Amino acid sequence: MAIQIPSRQLFIDGEWRETVLKKRIPIINPATEEIVGDIPAATAEDVEIAVDAARRAFSRNGGKDWASTSGAFRAKFLRAIASTVLERKSELALLELVDTGKPLVETASDMDGVASCFNYYAELAEALDAKQKAPISIPVQSFKSYVLKEPIGVIALITPWNYPLLMAAWKIAPALAAGCTAILKPSELASVTCLELAEICRQVDIPPGVLNIVTGLGSEAGAPLASHPHVDKIAFTGSTATGIKVMTAAAQTVKPISLELGGKSPIIVFEDGDLNNAAEWTIYSCFKTNGQICSATSRLIVHESIAADFLVKLIDWSKNIKISDPLEDGCRLGAIISKGQYEKVMNFISTAKNEGATILYGGGHPQHLRKGFFIEPTIITDVSTSMQIWREEVFGPVLCVKTFSTEHEAIALANDTDYGLGAAVISKDLERCERLTKALQAGTVWINCSQPCFDQTAWGGNKRSGIGRELGEWGLDSYLSIKQVTHYISNEPWGWYSPPQSSEELERSQKQN
Ligand code: NAD
Repeated sequence: MAIQIPSRQLFIDGEWRETVLKKRIPIINPATEEIVGDIPAATAEDVEIAVDAARRAFSRNGGKDWASTSGAFRAKFLRAIASTVLERKSELALLELVDTGKPLVETASDMDGVASCFNYYAELAEALDAKQKAPISIPVQSFKSYVLKEPIGVIALITPWNYPLLMAAWKIAPALAAGCTAILKPSELASVTCLELAEICRQVDIPPGVLNIVTGLGSEAGAPLASHPHVDKIAFTGSTATGIKVMTAAAQTVKPISLELGGKSPIIVFEDGDLNNAAEWTIYSCFKTNGQICSATSRLIVHESIAADFLVKLIDWSKNIKISDPLEDGCRLGAIISKGQYEKVMNFISTAKNEGATILYGGGHPQHLRKGFFIEPTIITDVSTSMQIWREEVFGPVLCVKTFSTEHEAIALANDTDYGLGAAVISKDLERCERLTKALQAGTVWINCSQPCFDQTAWGGNKRSGIGRELGEWGLDSYLSIKQVTHYISNEPWGWYSPPQSSEELERSQKQN
């Protein structure tokens, strides 16, 4: 099936706009290695125009601006975006498939996630109106205080390629719901559906400049956006290495940031768990999205008494995963995003081997697929905690395994990482699950599952996995600034200083002295 990728420009101030330097970046289908289109390559000049548009949309002097609209007004646009995404779901899912190499079943479910995220934040935008001016109880009766929740301003939204439109939605929906305006800079490796979102914004008549979409390289478009003095906040999702650069850029103008970064999350399987369920969650959470999930539980920590049987099960489940062109029916493992990422993952596997680990299953390019950046689901054993495969994020379908004998040891292994995004525990003993929930250093703990994530819950990492939380009310709050208003309501003078004396009083008191 030939899928036509629309040729798009940058989306700035409600209009398509060619890049100042007229540069473009090719789009490569990771499953076929063919060039299937191109996207605009913005540079600092384009970023300047986009920030200016967002700034004007945020607060027009004297005019109606997005920041001062009601939440109910903004919610209408968010709902219109959600329903247009659903109307175009099958087309968007196919476009994202060609752009990323992810199986159709995943890209289709991601589009549902995009729509539900916009609908969810439409609800929160409406609820925000009623939360304004909520009185605060203070212990002094001569004053009353309340809080206003105001949009922070112009937001730079910088996103990765593993869930291109969904990661963008997790930022755009709450930012716009809060009354902020934004410039989205999606990954240069997967911008196609984000540019379609621009077309959807045009269709639903979102006011010009409220959302601007600027595609291009991280160094040429992302960096000038992150350091722009008229951007009020950066919301970034990507690698920890880039997160550090973004944080450094933000520090120069003391911009608030939220960072959703990488991970090396553990899944602990106890001997009392249901081993079939444990196997499915282990496989799902490490090989879904071709292993390119920030919270992938890619370190399996399994009780020594069941390790041998469990590994046999994992191999059986892995053999059953259909690796194919993502367009094929039943495909569950597609292609890695790019040649560079493919080589990086292969290097991780060969370094593990060189360091003395055993490639128990997979580890290569599937023989039945000649073209495309495909990698077999890979299970690595005989891993030590000093090995690169244990310590660094692979971002590919690679699971590394260690065994444990005591709960204490399992916790120590799980926390033996610089990251702190997710962690999963598989056990029928719920008291034990409770103990582990407290002990694990992670933003999310999954019990008897791994990876499910809902709009209403909080998402984010500890340690080097990030700063702040997305989704839920926390996601909205991260785009709101709190203004404290305190009102003196007494008719009595405040009385801290004595009032100045009249000239006669002053003369009298001087004579007396
Ligand atoms: P990346 O860090 O290479 O790029 C992310 C984005 O930053 C891209 O849009 C890129 O163009 C841009 N960028 C690059 N250099 C920049 C710079 N100097 N200034 C500003 N922007 C710049 O990440 P990636 O390879 O696209 O994505 C994979 C990473 O994302 C993984 O580490 C993964 O764990 C992480 N991720 C985290 C989450 C989460 O929720 N924590 C979710 C998805 C992905």
